Amino acid sequence: MIEILKSSIHNFNAGPSILPKEVFEEASRAVIDFNNTGLSILEIGHRTSLFQSVMDEACSLVKELMHLDNDHDVLFMHGGASTQFMQVPMNLLNENELASYTDTGAWAAKAIREAKLFGHVEIAGSTKETNYTSIPKELSISPTAAYLHITTNETIHGTQWNNIPYDCGVPLVADMSSDILSRVVDFNKFDLIYAGAQKNMGAAGVNLVVVNKNILGKVNRIIPTILDYRNHIKEGSMLNTPPVFAVYVAMLTLRWLNKQGGVTAIEKVNNEKADLFYNTLDSLPIFKGIVAKEDRSKMNAVFIMDNVALEKEFLDVCKQEKMIGVKGHRSVGGFRVSMYNALPLESVKALTELMKIFAKKKG
Ligand SMILES: *Cc1c(COP(=O)(O)O)cnc(C)c1O
Repeated sequence: MIEILKSSIHNFNAGPSILPKEVFEEASRAVIDFNNTGLSILEIGHRTSLFQSVMDEACSLVKELMHLDNDHDVLFMHGGASTQFMQVPMNLLNENELASYTDTGAWAAKAIREAKLFGHVEIAGSTKETNYTSIPKELSISPTAAYLHITTNETIHGTQWNNIPYDCGVPLVADMSSDILSRVVDFNKFDLIYAGAQKNMGAAGVNLVVVNKNILGKVNRIIPTILDYRNHIKEGSMLNTPPVFAVYVAMLTLRWLNKQGGVTAIEKVNNEKADLFYNTLDSLPIFKGIVAKEDRSKMNAVFIMDNVALEKEFLDVCKQEKMIGVKGHRSVGGFRVSMYNALPLESVKALTELMKIFAKKKG
């Protein structure tokens, strides 16, 4: 097997992003010869028992890792998380009803825009006025709202919900694209969870959707067949051809996570990485965190320098040291360091050492 991931590269990309090396190796083997069948995973039918066992394992791993009860169904769907922005209100919100949304960043704002196409939207809490540098502490939710929507981790702005509003009094819906399976949360308390796979659990091209079946079937609009969650539940995510390879890569990533000890174990590592990173950040005055400390994301750390010329210099140094993906999102500027499940602690150690050396030189 060729070395596909040079260990000297540290990948802090925000998404698509780093996956476990063994997933890349096994996925590449399956492209040539899937499970010693002499066939590529790319050329087998999705209705073969070969692929059915991949789908079954992926679903049961999600159930196991999330400790899901029997009301919650696991779906793998096309379209990226952005499709869920419209599919959620299409399935859950009547035209004359109200859905409650929290406006916490670029992704939440996109979800809100789509929901308005299907019904009324109230903003339960917003931090837009302060450039999305924190998470709202007080929410105002109409008791008649069809659901409350939150974005558990804002990938671009670097905030994360630490106190999830489980007891909001209405069904809870979450976009977990960038922190899915990174920390222990009570997944059963959510009525619908969606996540594009390409940040924390696989390759681009597939979404994980976890839905409590009891909230479905309550809207009176006509839902196109392919967009109705109930049809996907009925057909076991095989209503049409699923993104076979992306589901396979997700299954391998879930298997890897399970082998690490599951969500509890990975959360420990993620905490260690985030602590190391933020402690270093706070100890070096040359760098500046811009997110309220209690709302800092453990997945995406966003920070800046007061001296913009130095920012460019630091990015050059990162590049020299083969640290990629450190540049901030174009809408925020500065830096963004993504520390997803598959990013080794060693990468954070290497980056924080580099930050210290740079600060010393410039300070
Ligand atoms: C990346 C991301 C999305 C968009 O995902 P696509 O798969 O590109 O549609 C949505 N929400 C969050 C929180 C994200 O990080």
